[in-house]
Amino acid sequence: MEISLALSQGTEGVGLMRSEFLFMGRTEPPDEDEQFSAYLEVVERMAPHPVTIRTLDVGGDKFVPEINLSDEMNPAMGLRGIRFSLNEKQMFNVQLRAILRASAHGPVRVMFPMITGVAELRECLMRLESAKNELRQEGVAFDEEMPVGIMIETPSAALIADQLARHVDFFSIGTNDLIQYCLAVDRANEHIAYLYEPLHPAVLRALSLICEAAEKNGIAVSMCGEMAGDPLYTLILLGLGISELSMNPSGIPRVKRILRQVDKAVSEE
Ligand code: PEP
Ligand code: MG
Repeated sequence: MEISLALSQGTEGVGLMRSEFLFMGRTEPPDEDEQFSAYLEVVERMAPHPVTIRTLDVGGDKFVPEINLSDEMNPAMGLRGIRFSLNEKQMFNVQLRAILRASAHGPVRVMFPMITGVAELRECLMRLESAKNELRQEGVAFDEEMPVGIMIETPSAALIADQLARHVDFFSIGTNDLIQYCLAVDRANEHIAYLYEPLHPAVLRALSLICEAAEKNGIAVSMCGEMAGDPLYTLILLGLGISELSMNPSGIPRVKRILRQVDKAVSEE
């Protein structure tokens, strides 16, 4: 629904398609064809710009009662994001197949949420490879070169970004969660909202580690958390080397205006 608005505001792609919205408000998860149609519509309408589809990120504050566990003591650190998908093999495979099929129709990138370690990432890549093998055997088309990325939104992923970077084509920094976990501040708790500081030195240090690791390994780094859409932070993000900013459509003109007025060399200083 946001595509027309995003295009009218000058977007050059979709940096974060939150696929969990397809799973909400229903009793059964969408099947492969239904997911494929939803992804295809976005891809076709956005072409020739790329669409970054994030695999299911339920759990934590994105509670989907039909498929989530309801008895977790600490859902933000529980069976959420990629942990849920790796636990639900069949559901994950269906989603990966649908995303791969959509990649035959325009530039698609896939990314995995809430990654915390290399073993977990390897497992995702194995599952992706097995979905590709299935499609190959069935003679179904997909983009063999579809870029694969991960969200960097846990302190653990930030600290080992150099190791993770060797396995993927891009990073996308999810500051909503990264700030929450770095500063131990629940992103939805109004009582401690004053502690939720995007410019906290710990957050800046994490961002800088992530950007250095990406640069050393020659992979792209984008940001898709809310911080990316706030003009207050544009200069610093540019200086850190973040090359793509993903935001709500309404934020695009203001951020573009700033980017057009500043010099990258100055932002780096
Ligand atoms: C983030 O954590 O910054 C992010 C973009 O993901 P979400 O807000 O969907 O958790
Ligand atoms: Mg997140």
